[in-house]
Amino acid sequence: MSNAQEKPVENHVFEADVARLLHLMVHSVYSDKDVFLRELISNAADACEKLRYEAIAAPELLSDDPGSRIVLTLDADKNTLTLEDNGIGMSRDDMVEALGTIARSGTRAFMERVEAAKAGDGAQLIGQFGVGFYSAFMVADKVDVVSRRAGTAHAWLWSSDGKGSYTVSEADLTEAPARGTRVRLHLMDDAKNYTSKWSVQRIVKDQSGHVPVPIDLIEKPG
Ligand code: ADP
Ligand code: MG
Repeated sequence: MSNAQEKPVENHVFEADVARLLHLMVHSVYSDKDVFLRELISNAADACEKLRYEAIAAPELLSDDPGSRIVLTLDADKNTLTLEDNGIGMSRDDMVEALGTIARSGTRAFMERVEAAKAGDGAQLIGQFGVGFYSAFMVADKVDVVSRRAGTAHAWLWSSDGKGSYTVSEADLTEAPARGTRVRLHLMDDAKNYTSKWSVQRIVKDQSGHVPVPIDLIEKPG
């Protein structure tokens, strides 16, 4: 079924600690799943901040789009929540490093606490630590990340169902952000509330009111 234009798909297995963390996320009884939104928004805002910093020495990275922006799109028909930023973006290697391993010290500390705690205590620890990107798998059974690093002519698609492995392939530039990252969550059936504008607006206001980047909320007509 493939055509000549199709890009090769690389299969990767998650680092063992990531696989354990994801298992914990997916089977978590942790009730405050809203925190995934705070984590993804904070990553998007960090990416905008990194771009602003790099642009001091390389202003051409901003091209004709100097303002930072985060756009959240809710699609009730497709049951997806999509978060796009026009920040620094990720190269292929950035993605494999950042979304396939546990580089983050906070997450590492979280895992150590979970190991030390009795079975079942992990759920309560999620809220205390904030577990970053992987918290998306508390509400999504598939996550697609399309990213284009500022100043480069390549875009990459990272995709995973959170069950131990992920794929990376080159993405079509026409289907990627001009720069930055688009994270699309295919929501679980019991997470449909995250396609409601009013629910998401309230969560964003409560959790991310201090974020220094404007956040737009778009609801696809259902
Ligand atoms: P942390 O934000 O503490 O580093 P996360 O698990 O939230 O940990 O994210 C892991 C890494 O993935 C980030 O450090 C960053 O390198 C990368 N990343 C995640 N989201 C984005 C994004 N929207 N833009 C660019 N890089 C991102
Ligand atoms: Mg983060």
